[in-house]
Amino acid sequence: MKAIRIHAFGEAGELSHEELPTPVPGAGEVLVRIEAAGVNFIEIYQRRGWYQRPLPFTPGSEGAGVVEAVGEGVTAVRVGERVASQAFAGSYAEFAVAPVDRVVPIPESLDTRDAAAAMLQGMTAHYLASSTFPLGPGHRCLIHAAAGGVGLLLCQLARRRGAIVYGTTSTSEKAERAREAGAHEVILYTETDFAQEVRRLTEGKGVSVVYDSVGKTTFQGSLDSLEPRGMLVLFGQASGPVPPLDLQVLNQKGSLFVTRPSLNHYVADRRELMQRASDVLGGIAGGTLKLAIGGSWPLAEASAAHAALESRETSGKLLLIP
Ligand code: NDP
Repeated sequence: MKAIRIHAFGEAGELSHEELPTPVPGAGEVLVRIEAAGVNFIEIYQRRGWYQRPLPFTPGSEGAGVVEAVGEGVTAVRVGERVASQAFAGSYAEFAVAPVDRVVPIPESLDTRDAAAAMLQGMTAHYLASSTFPLGPGHRCLIHAAAGGVGLLLCQLARRRGAIVYGTTSTSEKAERAREAGAHEVILYTETDFAQEVRRLTEGKGVSVVYDSVGKTTFQGSLDSLEPRGMLVLFGQASGPVPPLDLQVLNQKGSLFVTRPSLNHYVADRRELMQRASDVLGGIAGGTLKLAIGGSWPLAEASAAHAALESRETSGKLLLIP
């Protein structure tokens, strides 16, 4: 099969398109013929070596397709069934394996590519809005990179839960997309001091929660945007890692909370995974949650997809098509 391999940490050019043996599903695993693989920022951290993985490796954990074979003891899914997962061992490939308890069936009315596009960013937006800081009417939230893959979904979920939604983006075109997704106000954080702007927009009160996936360049401003007892949810580091934090700062700025969540801990239990996946995939199939596919590339051009994502020129979800 064809697959993307990384032999050395570095730039997007390290993604090489190669011939590899098709994996064989072990006990409790399924082999899926991948129809679309999701591109996520975490694969950029891994490619750069910011998140260490043993070399060489096939990147990608998100994808969807048709079950090609099942390993010993697998009875829950059958060959020929359409499934999606955010836990493939290398989804930038024509075939990938995943543990059977980490795959979910794709609803009949949902396109396989849409299922691939929704799993990781959709369930992330879902846990952030409903579990990490369960938003409700009266809450004010700030969402950084609001026109990104996670951002556009999170704006929709936050708005639907009744929160007042503030977003940040780097350009006015992206700001428009965030507004269409539900943001009440969008701040161009590359031009404006967003913490000051949040204070102005909230009449000095600040927001109840900041969803910060940008990290290094936004972290301090995020702390300064919170109301007393507010929560900073740091869930990514697109601009770089955040330096160590003196906990006394949380006291000084108003008894703040900081958490650094990961999707894995919010879908660890099979029941929780099924609940989140069915909310997200069902929402898309039913039209209540809108997916924005920001671009798709042939698998062989994975490096172009990475270059686009890290250059900040994209909005919404990026896909690779084997
Ligand atoms: P996005 O589509 O959101 O792309 C990243 C965006 O970050 C860019 O479009 C850009 O938006 C913004 N950004 C700000 N500074 C930079 C910079 N220096 N370089 C590049 N981008 C920058 O990506 P994803 O939707 O895939 O992921 C969003 C974030 O969520 C990532 O940080 C990712 O790691 C995190 N994540 C975390 C998960 C978790 O469970 N913890 C799970 C899934 C994703 P703009 O141009 O508007 O500034």
